[in-house]
Amino acid sequence: MIPLRISLEPEEIPSHWYNVVADLVNPPAPPLAPDGNPVTPEQMGAIFPMPILEQEMSAERWIAIPEEVRQIYALWRPSPLCRALRLEQALGTPAKIFYKYEGVSPAGSHKPNSAVPQAFYNKMVGTKRLTTETGAGQWGSSIAFAGQMFGLPVRVFMVKVSYEQKPFRRSMMQTWGAEVFASPTNLTNAGRAALAADPDNQGSLGLAISEAVEEAAGDPGTCYTLGSVLNHVLLHQTVIGLEAKKAFDKIGLYPDVIFGPCGGGSSFGGIAFPFLADKAAGDKRAANLRCVAVEPTSCPTLTKGAYAYDYGDVSGYTPIMRMYTLGHDFMPPGIHAGGLRYHGDSPLVSQLLHEGQIEALAVPQVATFEAGVQFARAEGIIPAPESCHGIRAAIDEALRCKVTGEAKTILFNLTGHGHFDMASYDRFLSGKLEDYEYPAEAIAESLKHLPKVD
Ligand SMILES: *Cc1c(COP(=O)(O)O)cnc(C)c1O
Repeated sequence: MIPLRISLEPEEIPSHWYNVVADLVNPPAPPLAPDGNPVTPEQMGAIFPMPILEQEMSAERWIAIPEEVRQIYALWRPSPLCRALRLEQALGTPAKIFYKYEGVSPAGSHKPNSAVPQAFYNKMVGTKRLTTETGAGQWGSSIAFAGQMFGLPVRVFMVKVSYEQKPFRRSMMQTWGAEVFASPTNLTNAGRAALAADPDNQGSLGLAISEAVEEAAGDPGTCYTLGSVLNHVLLHQTVIGLEAKKAFDKIGLYPDVIFGPCGGGSSFGGIAFPFLADKAAGDKRAANLRCVAVEPTSCPTLTKGAYAYDYGDVSGYTPIMRMYTLGHDFMPPGIHAGGLRYHGDSPLVSQLLHEGQIEALAVPQVATFEAGVQFARAEGIIPAPESCHGIRAAIDEALRCKVTGEAKTILFNLTGHGHFDMASYDRFLSGKLEDYEYPAEAIAESLKHLPKVD
């Protein structure tokens, strides 16, 4: 009998993060400066501390997790791996469904897995203040919490649509001592330009990034933190997959397929990469493993974007990176999974998709909430709207297993709880939630503005 909750001991918190760069078939495409040359550590050093930059560029397979970071992780890690038996029974599927639950962190999502080390390394090198952007408020609250753990002040640019839709995320950040502004603001050139063009600008993650980067670049004591996309963030998130593997070992099982929501790709990389390490090492159990990144049809970066060099932000302050992108000036519709509204994606996830190592799938908004409600009724936990994308895909796979009779082992990443997203559930439950068509023309227009390389 498989236990419903497979817990690890505190000392089983991983001692090292796993760096997938060590196992890539081709070397990663370097980030480029606007002049087309590879970005130098000095240029990046204006906004990031050196230990983070070293991780960003590292090709070492295993990177030690500092003891100070493991001690903060221990507030909620190891996170549980659970079997969704009641969901299996409700679906009538022969498949076994497991989820790794990251909603047990203080901020309620996986994001503190990277916020904590980022705050730690900044404190270590003497940074005086952190800036960042946040979409749904998940990253902002995570870095507010982490900054507080290490005594670092935090300034957050919060995408305006979320600032208005999710006021309690703002209070949460303020409770942990952070300053929070609705982006676009009048504090930066990027914000002022956006407001001049459109006073009702609802903001986007890309624009908020421009504001936070501009502040960090303009002040030597201030550093910037990013909650997704970059290599070091995905590195930190691998504690998810590493713990999941240990838990599966305890019950003698191995997943056939892994689903995770994908915005910038950090939680997806976090759960999938440690399993891809097994594949790279020739582990037979992983030979046919499928890893599937699940995104919204309204912001279909991996499934409808171009694999090309593009900026990470709207204003073109960041280096250009090779990734799947909808174009840096693509403005995604105001969907309720705010954490998945980003024009680009992690260069590592993008490369693995491009090379056929992983898969991607897009699902429409209403169907994701249907899955989230079905999950909540079977398993009790109310998932974040972002997480509902992975759940939708996992349920669909389990239903396919019902048809074929396959008893697959399905794993999905339950990246966070939805306690701050009940207004979105409200809209769904009262039938007001809409699906947005994939905005083909807007994407085609935006893709015309990709930076020219070579
Ligand atoms: C931010 C967020 C995501 C998406 O971000 P990734 O970097 O793609 O992981 C998914 N789920 C939750 C709960 C989030 O807060």
